[in-house]
Amino acid sequence: MSLADIENRRVPHPRRVVVLAPRVGYATPTSSIQPCVIPSEAFLSGAEGPASVFRSIQNDARVPRPSSAWAGFATPRSSHKRCVIPSEAYFSGAEGPASVFRSIQSDERVLRPRYARAGYLKFFLAFFFVASLILPRLHAQHFPGAKAFDYTREFVSIGPRWPTSPGHTQAEAYLRAHFQHDQLEEDAFAADTPIGNVNLRNFIVRFPGKKPGAIVLGTHYETNYPLRTINFVGANDGGATTGLLMALADQFRQQTAGGKLLDGYSVWLVFFDGEEAFQTWSQSDSTFGSRHLAAKWGRDGTLGKIKAFLLADMIGDKDLDIQRETNSTAWLVDLVKQAAHKFGYDHYFFQKEEEVEDDHLPFVKRGVPSIDIIDLDYGPNNSYHHTAQDTLDKVSPKSLTIDGDVFLETIRLINQR
Ligand SMILES: [Zn+2]
Repeated sequence: MSLADIENRRVPHPRRVVVLAPRVGYATPTSSIQPCVIPSEAFLSGAEGPASVFRSIQNDARVPRPSSAWAGFATPRSSHKRCVIPSEAYFSGAEGPASVFRSIQSDERVLRPRYARAGYLKFFLAFFFVASLILPRLHAQHFPGAKAFDYTREFVSIGPRWPTSPGHTQAEAYLRAHFQHDQLEEDAFAADTPIGNVNLRNFIVRFPGKKPGAIVLGTHYETNYPLRTINFVGANDGGATTGLLMALADQFRQQTAGGKLLDGYSVWLVFFDGEEAFQTWSQSDSTFGSRHLAAKWGRDGTLGKIKAFLLADMIGDKDLDIQRETNSTAWLVDLVKQAAHKFGYDHYFFQKEEEVEDDHLPFVKRGVPSIDIIDLDYGPNNSYHHTAQDTLDKVSPKSLTIDGDVFLETIRLINQR
């Protein structure tokens, strides 16, 4: 059978037309060097049909073979699969198989693929599909402030939680339930306060790391006792930073799942009780929980393991401007600044300097590198601080994202130190 014979025949009508997915291309003289699919029913339905042309081409020693094995040759058996037709072999002259292809192409009974550039389309679809999987992950590298905000909302919805109140008991139960599957330690003690002996309770949650030593993140969780008369809920003061630490815990929990260890130092979260004064702030009427724990950890040697202590206070504020607290350890302040700079958060940090007495002081006094990350400028003329105005609407997920990003980056920098 000569090529002229084939050219003079009509291409056999496919017995069962396989509607190939529009993504595949047809073999044409111009597309032949690109991956294509040859519909076998259309092309290879009989011994006298184009199948024998394929075979004769395959047997022709002069025909160059595709170099990569995966490409495969067009054969009756492989014709459903992707193949590469070397254009030099198929389309070298008007009398060659090219005209066979042309006659097939002009046969109206042969189904057309909808997209001529199918191969590229497929590639781009695959590219965008993969990109759609990767890009949200890149984006998700920001700390989930929204999650921290959700925890804050939940916690603040308990209501006022001043020591000795039912809300305080509920707040304790909330933390206990939330961290029940973690390494949770409750540090209960009786504090000698201006209103008498008060039972207080710090919560400590530990996530173990590979390096010996620990980085401690702290907040206080209770609300102010004197403000019990105004239904003070401390959304920002005690609430937001509790939510922040809970969302940070989510990350450490994930990283330590199944007995794994954090890459650097262990991370301990401390939820302090009794930060607020019972009557009027003084060295003896304030920071009961942190003074108790720092003293205890001083006695039992735990303080020696602490590489750094980062205290979070009132940094859920929508209008975030974190002061440079002057009792804080200089190198830690520098690391936090460096961490903020990485995300372009410079203007939220350390534009002003201020000395603040807070839960970090008992640790500073004992030589633990510590920083109070605090925004003590809350509302116009600080009018939301310790007022009934300290409600959830003054707190923002965005500020919590900034905080979380900076805390995590600071931890990374401490681990590298
Ligand atoms: Zn306060």
